[in-house]
Amino acid sequence: FSERDGLRIGATVTMTEAAESAPVRERYRALADGAEIVGSIQTMNMATIGGNVCNAAPSADTAPPLLTYEAVAVIAGPKGERDVPIEKFWLGPNQTALQQGELLRELRLPAPPPNTGGVYVRQTPRKQMDIAVVGVAVLLTLGQGDRIKRARIALAAVAPTPIRARKAEAGLEGKAASKALFAQAAETATSEASPIGDVRGSAEFRRHLVRVTTERCLQEAAQRARAS
Ligand SMILES: Cc1cc2nc3c(=O)[nH]c(=O)nc-3n(C[C@H](O)[C@H](O)[C@H](O)COP(=O)(O)OP(=O)(O)OC[C@H]3O[C@@H](n4cnc5c(N)ncnc54)[C@H](O)[C@@H]3O)c2cc1C
Repeated sequence: FSERDGLRIGATVTMTEAAESAPVRERYRALADGAEIVGSIQTMNMATIGGNVCNAAPSADTAPPLLTYEAVAVIAGPKGERDVPIEKFWLGPNQTALQQGELLRELRLPAPPPNTGGVYVRQTPRKQMDIAVVGVAVLLTLGQGDRIKRARIALAAVAPTPIRARKAEAGLEGKAASKALFAQAAETATSEASPIGDVRGSAEFRRHLVRVTTERCLQEAAQRARAS
């Protein structure tokens, strides 16, 4: 990590290494939140960030945090190296922008500005060893008078790929943080999700979870931004 270049994470970094890394905990807290709930301790010791990203599961727990930090995927292949914004890396369930012979080499995350707070929350029936019914990451940068300078919201398990909730983000920026504003943004984020129903929950239940989880994440991210 450096203030100028941000964070570089090699693809083979494990969830345990990411979750315990001081710069990740201090500056990229939502990513630590995601990494520290992947499977069990044994899973976290084996599972890599690169594998979680390349698996391209809509429910991947590091995906929403990486979207909020606007990570860039550095891809290496026979024709050299290329950068792909993480939002363009996932093309569908288990489908990525990787072409024949290419590997994900590392992820680069710009340094978040001061007064930024991030959080990731996953909803699952079980506390561990389960995959997200819904996952929400929020990143807020606050200015004077609690004004929201920058808002990022990303959702997992409610679309074919992890997604940004851009309309909800736009509705927050430039306004003072408040309970009512967060409730409205959570409602907007819900309208941006297109979940399917499956064995883990109906589409309607997932929409409900997006609303309540986004609202809680906005409150928590604002708290973390104030404390940063
Ligand atoms: C018991 C269990 C619990 C789990 N719990 C969770 C959970 O809670 N949350 C969650 O998000 N996931 C979970 N997973 C899914 C999975 O373990 C994670 O996504 C993990 O991070 C994958 O990392 P890996 O290193 O094992 O990747 P692998 O499984 O080895 O790889 C996944 C895919 O990506 C490809 N790949 C890996 N690295 C690269 C690279 N650098 N470049 C190009 N392609 C690459 C592989 O070829 C493969 O196709 C769980 C899996 C198990 C078995």
